[in-house]
Amino acid sequence: MEIINRRQRMSSVSRKVRRDQDRTIGLVPTMGALHDGHLSLVREARRMCDVVVVSVFVNPAQFAPGEDFERYPRDLTKDTAVLTDYNVDYIFAPSPEEMYPKNFSTYVTVEGLSEQLEGVVRPGHFRGVATVVTILLNIIRPDFAFFGQKDAQQTLVVKRLVRDLALETEIVILPTVREPSGLALSSRNAFLNPEERQSAAVIHRALTRAESAYAEGERNGAKLASLVRSTIETEPRARLDYVSVSDADTLEKLDKLNDKTVLIAVAARFGQTRLIDNLVLNQRDGVKIKS
Ligand code: AMP
Repeated sequence: MEIINRRQRMSSVSRKVRRDQDRTIGLVPTMGALHDGHLSLVREARRMCDVVVVSVFVNPAQFAPGEDFERYPRDLTKDTAVLTDYNVDYIFAPSPEEMYPKNFSTYVTVEGLSEQLEGVVRPGHFRGVATVVTILLNIIRPDFAFFGQKDAQQTLVVKRLVRDLALETEIVILPTVREPSGLALSSRNAFLNPEERQSAAVIHRALTRAESAYAEGERNGAKLASLVRSTIETEPRARLDYVSVSDADTLEKLDKLNDKTVLIAVAARFGQTRLIDNLVLNQRDGVKIKS
């Protein structure tokens, strides 16, 4: 395994793999502090592709001033050890200065999708995501790139970006990996104290209640949202940011669900830590490809 820090070296290695060796490349973009959620993506990349690249880059462009960029957990030594066990070929770990060279001034904006849900609370976040993903896809030119359903809106932004800009990478979305309590794994869970961690499991309980109500025939978006909200509000440590019931492809808010594929998305704070999670109802191909 090689750790690559330079854009140019990463491009030339990828070019060589593609041209001289005619092998497929899988990219798993991450911000590091790896957990089993990330590793499920790495495992699938390893299964599907000849060469696996994991990028580890805490992307300053997707954090607003006052967010947790500085204190975001970083441990490249540990991440490297884990990825060695997973037989990864390359880690791409550029510095911010390498990724965004002096006078960097070109950003990618996926309009519409980026302003909803997380975009309301975190304006500019998806511009940062779309920009870094575009750079990564251009440097590495992977055949496949792997993303987690945990960040549902991000998957939509990335799929739209790849389609609109005619990038030649297939986006693979994999299911959310959870703790036994139902809490979705996240690098930010490291910030939770034991009580907060226990409380945070309420998010998945609330989503599961909505899923049961849906299974019993509830098709009113506002009623499902209020069921999720009231369940989360039973937990005194939770401060809810939003619950949204929307079209899983467009993020358009839905009142009558009918036979649509529906995304229920939640953001909530526990202490200083902001967590997101979601559930897809009436899922069809393309949203979840493997369970
Ligand atoms: P991050 O390092 O948080 O930017 O995440 C890197 C990738 O891992 C993204 O595609 C995430 O959606 C994915 N991911 C994060 N947490 C999970 C999880 N619990 N289950 C599955 N994928 C995840």
